[in-house]
Parts: sequence; structure tokens; C-alpha cells
Amino acid sequence: MTREAGSETAAARLSPIATGVRGLCPRCGQGHIFQGFLKVRDHCEVCGLDYGFADPADGPAVFVQLFACIPGVVFIVMLEILARPPLWVHVAVGIPILILTTVLPLRPIKGWLIAAQYVNNAQEAGTAQLWNQLHDKAD
Ligand SMILES: [Zn+2]
Repeated sequence: MTREAGSETAAARLSPIATGVRGLCPRCGQGHIFQGFLKVRDHCEVCGLDYGFADPADGPAVFVQLFACIPGVVFIVMLEILARPPLWVHVAVGIPILILTTVLPLRPIKGWLIAAQYVNNAQEAGTAQLWNQLHDKAD
């Protein structure tokens, strides 16, 4: 199903956080971005938006490292410094913390970056002409 051209402007106002974090299509807010955990679909199953533009590259990993992984590692190091627990405590606490702070945030952050890429019509700097050629647009 394809939306009419006139609905594009109103739908583009959907917040990338409201749609992307939940893995929903940035144009219609109903379809899904992901097929599986992190694999991006070819297109939205509701409005037909082609996800060919979606290229967050290593953006999700950078955000996970900055805002989740580093605090998790700091917590583990502080646990060792302040409590000096036995090794099994590090295994029982540290591994779940690293999994929770690295794997779980990847999907919402990747969805947010893809939705923000769509809403802001973002592309790599200096590639506008190539982008237009690839998507059959006049300059
Ligand atoms: Zn859609």
C-alpha cells in the first residue's frame, strides 16, 4: 500500500525518537524498520517506504560506547576498587551488565538514527550528486 504524495509532508513531522526508538517506520509510524533484531527491511510493509537510504554505519555502536558501555565498565572497575569482590561476583555481575549496556540499546539507537536520517534527509557530506543519481532525482 502506498500513501498519496500529499501525506508525505505531514508524515515527515513524526518524531524520529517516537518512531525510530520503537523500530517503527519514520514516514507512516505503523510499519517496521527491522526484520529480526538489527537487520533493516527492504521497505516498509505499510507505506512502502524504501529503506535504501538507511545507512547509520557505526553510529549506533558509537552511541552505545559513549552512553552505555563506558558507564558499565566504570561500574565494574569501581566495584573492584571499592569492594574487591571474588572473581565469581565479577562474572555474575559484570557479564550481565556488559550485555545489558551493549546489546539492548543497539536496536533503539539504530532505529532512532535511521528515522532521524529520513526526517532530516541526511546524507554523507559531498555526496549529494551521487545520492541524486542513485535515487533518480534531478539536481
Ligand atoms: Zn511506513
